[in-house]
Amino acid sequence: MANRKFTTISKIGEFGLIERLSKNITNRHKETRLGIGDDAAVLSITKDLGHLVSTDMLVEGVHFNISYSPLKHVGYKSIVVNISDICAMNGFPSHALVSIAVPNKYSVEMIEEIYSGIKLACDNFSIDLIGGDTTASVSTLTISITVFGSTQNSKLTYRSGAKLNDLLVVTGDLGGAYLGLQILERENSIFQKNQLAQPDLSPYSQILERQLKPEPRIDIIRNLNQLDVIPTSMIDVSDGLSSELIHLSNSSQKSMKVFADKIPVSLITKKTAKELNLDPVVCALHGGEDYELLLTISLKDYQKIKDTGLYTPIGHISDQKNKVELITSDNKPVNLKNKGWDSFTKD
Ligand code: ADP
Ligand code: MG
Repeated sequence: MANRKFTTISKIGEFGLIERLSKNITNRHKETRLGIGDDAAVLSITKDLGHLVSTDMLVEGVHFNISYSPLKHVGYKSIVVNISDICAMNGFPSHALVSIAVPNKYSVEMIEEIYSGIKLACDNFSIDLIGGDTTASVSTLTISITVFGSTQNSKLTYRSGAKLNDLLVVTGDLGGAYLGLQILERENSIFQKNQLAQPDLSPYSQILERQLKPEPRIDIIRNLNQLDVIPTSMIDVSDGLSSELIHLSNSSQKSMKVFADKIPVSLITKKTAKELNLDPVVCALHGGEDYELLLTISLKDYQKIKDTGLYTPIGHISDQKNKVELITSDNKPVNLKNKGWDSFTKD
């Protein structure tokens, strides 16, 4: 080891690290239909169903700050972020395992408060909590959750299925969760200096909720089923739109054209961005944690989704050279780079 050169993790980032760690990993079982590389792994255990498994971890100080995140919300969100990955495969969640590493500073009541959020999410989304693990931690609180789900084989939707001319569509609106976080950070630093500060956060309630208590888009998976639309590819928007577009483009080996003017941004997101001197489209592209779905659909399905009010077309799959091209509001093409949330490189 003496003469070996060491690479800092921030140099290659989260995705670079995953790529290095998952190199040369081979699957041995015929039931493993898809291993590493999508929002969830797919196992063929029964004949007609794709069984989905996904895991996500929330770490205090990285994913949440208990000085402004209510513990119940932390619990709720830990289930939601996992369900979102099952939805991204066009599946429905069914079971969860919850593992926690708890530092001494937490009381039993505090952990129960986190669990009340976990249980509420399990009730709301019809999930059986079937086990987990509990351990002490010498540093911060960590919650690691594994969620199981399923979908009919014919409805499985991967990141890799986008076809030329497909429409790129996003659900809901983007950038709100990131701006909610900026407001929470701002108010927290004011509070740290003056404990008597009594901020009025009510004008921001919508984006604060997007950050603290996101909802998974199971309603979209139900709606796609009702409309009889199977997306050609899909991913959830956890790390920011730009990052997810690049994932879809890489996995599908297709180029795409996206129009900045079409990206859905809510009024309060726009107002807050202005207040903080930020560009709302940049927040939508590079902020994270919106937990909306980004999907591609065949043009023939556009009629079915267009009047639902649930989907916004933002571009299409193209045959251009640039992988992910963003057309700015002043009509300039920009080659989009991955600047999404990356816990190893972001402050
Ligand atoms: P998401 O943002 O949807 O949770 P990630 O970017 O975390 O997805 O992960 C991408 C893929 O890499 C997934 O298939 C995930 O299971 C896999 N993965 C992430 N971390 C590891 C790891 N440490 N070892 C093996 N596979 C991993
Ligand atoms: Mg995902």
